[in-house]
Amino acid sequence: DTAIGIVGGGQLGRMLAMAAARLGYRVIVLDPDAGCPAAQVANAQIVAAYDDVAALRDLAARTSVVTYEFENVPVAQIRAAVTAVPLYPPAEALEVTQDRVVEKAFLNGIGVATAEWRAIDSVAELGHALVELDGDCILKTRRFGYDGKGQASIRKGGPHADVFESLGGVPAILEKKVPFAYECSIIAARGIDGSVVAYDPAENVHRLGILHTSTVPGRVSPQVGEAARAIAASILAKLGYVGVIGVEFFVQGDDTILVNEIAPRVHNSGHWTEAACVVSQFEQHVRAIAGLPLGAAARHSDCVMENLIGDDVKRVAAILAEPATLLHLYGKPEARPGRKMGHLTRLTD
Ligand code: ATP
Ligand code: MG
Ligand code: MG
Repeated sequence: DTAIGIVGGGQLGRMLAMAAARLGYRVIVLDPDAGCPAAQVANAQIVAAYDDVAALRDLAARTSVVTYEFENVPVAQIRAAVTAVPLYPPAEALEVTQDRVVEKAFLNGIGVATAEWRAIDSVAELGHALVELDGDCILKTRRFGYDGKGQASIRKGGPHADVFESLGGVPAILEKKVPFAYECSIIAARGIDGSVVAYDPAENVHRLGILHTSTVPGRVSPQVGEAARAIAASILAKLGYVGVIGVEFFVQGDDTILVNEIAPRVHNSGHWTEAACVVSQFEQHVRAIAGLPLGAAARHSDCVMENLIGDDVKRVAAILAEPATLLHLYGKPEARPGRKMGHLTRLTD
């Protein structure tokens, strides 16, 4: 009777809990919201803030491994609380991915190319960096951004004086805008024994900063796929990683690839694996952190995953009528604009 602790009870925590249950594990979720999506499927919930050390200790005491569904888990607190059982992925993965400057420095330090970037702490620094990067740019907050939140575009030579303040005047990163041909991502996993598996890369299309579709195989060529796998494997090894990771890429016209960002968790662009692979990214993560052998990452079908955002859920009846489409809803009570309510995966061969 083994239990897995998950910090964060959103849709990713929920889908992890469902996969864990299928492998016979009990799941305890820690989330401040008693009505969170994962609460409906977990065996128990600790209702507490993510930085509540006593609550995190309680989670660790009642489980045999602790994991998380989002990269903003407070590092000092989880390090202090989770000592007697493993924390997977390790706290180093949180440290690297919580801050876009630390993340880019880490990637460049292991020889992985990214967009050109500068750390920005003031309007004056922004002015200098815009001159140096000499092109269209994107200013992003270093921390807490997701779904394109906390970002602003700055045209070459365009106004920028108010942009730093418009993001809250917090530490930021300026990135040169990459004229990519398309975006793709790879979902990979590393086991406790160091074994690595990677799913086929997906081509991703964003709308208004939010992932809209992931298409497999999409436009990703075998060479680009190999390069993406190699980069993912080196990131996993360098972090001494255990669990599933998502790595997002920009692919340029000449097939060179740059890493956009990495996510130390199951990833929205890997949701298709539940429909097109025997072992989904969620089960793969549970296998990895529980010390089970990793499963095959082979794909038995081509597919397109589409996020259902806000009122998209009104299309449920039509989606259910499709013969080769898997619908997955997150049990969220209200369909607010921009809110991820579920997703579908349409098998396309
Ligand atoms: P996520 O929800 O994936 O965590 P996020 O809020 O962390 O997203 P990013 O992945 O940094 O944001 O950016 C969101 C999208 O904005 C990217 O997928 C890409 O389409 C576009 N974008 C971000 N940075 C750049 C860049 N330097 N050049 C070109 N496009 C970019
Ligand atoms: Mg992100
Ligand atoms: Mg992203």
